[in-house]
Amino acid sequence: MQTKQFQAESKRLLDLMINSIYTHREIFLRELISNASDAIDKLYYHSLSDGTTGLSRADFAINLVVDKDARTLKITDNGCGMTAEELESNLGTIAKSGSLAFKQENEKNDEIDVIGQFGVGFYSAFMVASCVTVVSKPFGSEQAFRWQSYGADGYTIEECEKEGHGTEITLVIKENEGEESYDEFLEPHRISGIVKKYSDYIRYPIRMDMPATRVKEGSPEDKPEYEQYTVNETLNSMVPIWKKSKSEVTDEDYNNFYKDKFFDYQDPVRVIHSSTEGAATYNALLFIPARAPYNYYSREYEKGLQLYASGVLIMEKCADLLPDCFSFVKGLVDSQDLSLNISREMLQHDRQLKIIAGRLEKKIHSELLTMLNNEREKYEELFKNFGLQLKYGVYNEFGAKKDLLSDLLLFCSSKEKKLVSLSEYTDRMGEGQKYIYYACGETVERIDRLPQTERIKDNGFEILYLTDDVDEFALKMLREFGGKEFRSVSDSDLGLENEQEKEETKKQNEDNKELLDFLKESLDGKVKEVRVSDRLKSHPVCLSSGGEITLEMEKVLNSMPGSEGQVKADRVLELNPSHPVFTTLQKLYAEDKDRVKAYAGLLYAQAVLIEGMSLEDPVAFSNAVCDLMSKE
Ligand code: ADP
Ligand code: MG
Repeated sequence: MQTKQFQAESKRLLDLMINSIYTHREIFLRELISNASDAIDKLYYHSLSDGTTGLSRADFAINLVVDKDARTLKITDNGCGMTAEELESNLGTIAKSGSLAFKQENEKNDEIDVIGQFGVGFYSAFMVASCVTVVSKPFGSEQAFRWQSYGADGYTIEECEKEGHGTEITLVIKENEGEESYDEFLEPHRISGIVKKYSDYIRYPIRMDMPATRVKEGSPEDKPEYEQYTVNETLNSMVPIWKKSKSEVTDEDYNNFYKDKFFDYQDPVRVIHSSTEGAATYNALLFIPARAPYNYYSREYEKGLQLYASGVLIMEKCADLLPDCFSFVKGLVDSQDLSLNISREMLQHDRQLKIIAGRLEKKIHSELLTMLNNEREKYEELFKNFGLQLKYGVYNEFGAKKDLLSDLLLFCSSKEKKLVSLSEYTDRMGEGQKYIYYACGETVERIDRLPQTERIKDNGFEILYLTDDVDEFALKMLREFGGKEFRSVSDSDLGLENEQEKEETKKQNEDNKELLDFLKESLDGKVKEVRVSDRLKSHPVCLSSGGEITLEMEKVLNSMPGSEGQVKADRVLELNPSHPVFTTLQKLYAEDKDRVKAYAGLLYAQAVLIEGMSLEDPVAFSNAVCDLMSKE
């Protein structure tokens, strides 16, 4: 028999196939099973269209047989089979795809969804096999043919016997070589695992004999003897849950699928099942987990959705399908329109991906918003887990996603100390309120006691209490919501006073200029300004910031590694002119400047403590208080 050479460039191509196109050897099985499925599709399509084959869907199957001793793995199908010419042209020419031709011939038929297109998948068998034998008999023909190849040297084709139509592919699994072991591809459980991973949704049953153990019949009950036997199992689930219509799937089905596939022990809080046609046709099944995984807020966490092309797994974690702000979402996308790269492990263009990702982003957003509006408790629970990510999402990428996310945010508020959304806040803003007020601090209780909040609350205005580091940064990025600007309670202009009050404060500052300047000098560079303010009601003093950087931002930025103490907010010490302490200061300024100087230090220290910051020199503070206490 004459050995034929692969077409000119094929040798080199084959070498490429075996050594560099694929990252995972195990995908050879995905490729051979996909081919078997395509072959069955073609015959099934044929039997549907002319009705003469007498075959129905239930007649079709793919079978796998492992023989450890012979080191062989067999993949059989009862699909369309190949003639000698087809064996020659489809398997003898690398990059020739009979499936692509079939697709093109039947272009007008939407039903057709064969997987093959590049004409290279078959050769991936050589990554694990030293010899590949294909025995094939076309449907309706009497003659079968055997194609055989040991790799780059070429292939032979000869007549042979075969029962029934279809194709039987036998791989002789390579011998282990040093570190490289191929034995795994002779393990039924491993093979079954690979089938589940990549080919779970092939539409025809994939069957294999699986080893099992049972109690030997007649063996004594107290001393049972066991025997090995095999069960022929169907390895794949065939119909993907996401291709079923929603009415066919129960909540339990969704939950079990999620827990099984995404290794969670809790049911998801939300299932999003959507199908779309048009610019991009796809099915998506998304889940929002009940809890953040332990590593969620760490670098280790990898976001992404599973990506399927016509039911075959292409990518385990496709990061491009999910924006960072929704990185907690799990799930999958299945599409027929992806332009895959030749290894079918990646995509050629990200255009379709971008369209799909854009749609999913909108969908996730609208589902979350629906939840916020209709299932408040559930949403608040979700926000506890993932709210931080949403807030980071507002701030990250220079605010690119801020408009998407602003209506999903919740903050604790001074009213009822409950979580409110920004639209709930603005909806109940009274006529006279210009700004959305917020105050920062470590805890709600601490913020609630801040002197700066007192007058605003007295006015009946609501304040958002920001307790997470990222909060103020997120609000600064948003700038406004519903046309209302955000304003920190420490801001110099709170929009509370009328023109007359403003004038009064201005005059008080002018009248007490000497005293205020003296206080500032006494504080020796600690503050940029000391001034009288009308923000305070019952407290004598508070600290605010002059420039863009607030005290809270200073705290957060300085707590980041490598930036200790580099960021400094401009501090302003504000005094309450209606407080008796202020009168004392005025009086003492004429009589005892040293006391005023000591009091300046005390007032500053108090303001620092109220802000939740620590004193540079607590001992000096304590001494100053004791001094005061020992005076008559
Ligand atoms: P692709 O599947 O992308 O077309 P392959 O290299 O996997 O490329 O297969 C090449 C061609 O060989 C297929 O298009 C098909 O025509 C033919 N072929 C492969 N396996 C089978 C099979 N089991 N039954 C019938 N034809 C097959
Ligand atoms: Mg193929």
